[in-house]
Amino acid sequence: MLIIDCPWCGPRQEIEFGYGGQAHVAYPEDPHALDDAAWAEYLFYRDNPKGIYAERWVHSVGCRRWFNALRDTHTYDIVAIYRMGEPRPDAVSPHGPQDSELVQSSVVPGTPGGASEAAAPTTHGTGK
Ligand SMILES: [Zn+2]
Repeated sequence: MLIIDCPWCGPRQEIEFGYGGQAHVAYPEDPHALDDAAWAEYLFYRDNPKGIYAERWVHSVGCRRWFNALRDTHTYDIVAIYRMGEPRPDAVSPHGPQDSELVQSSVVPGTPGGASEAAAPTTHGTGK
């Protein structure tokens, strides 16, 4: 179980918190100017890094306030917590910069042998 350090209440167990997805996804400045693909990109597409990931959490059974956390998706380590409106702190994964690389798909469309690569097991996490 994760111990999450609420910026207002201090360390609490993970079950007191709700997950809010990727942090720093800004609402489009002029949403009516977006085409369907750009609007879908804003609504549904999120980063999926192996490494440090900025995400939103809410202390649902505590102070009910939202905050941001930098969590390593590989180790589940929370490396920084900061309040809404505060800038994202610089954080380096304790396991080196290679952990911050984006997860790459092993299947490249149109390449020979793509079918056999598609059968390879994947180990994508649930993001939580
Ligand atoms: Zn709290």
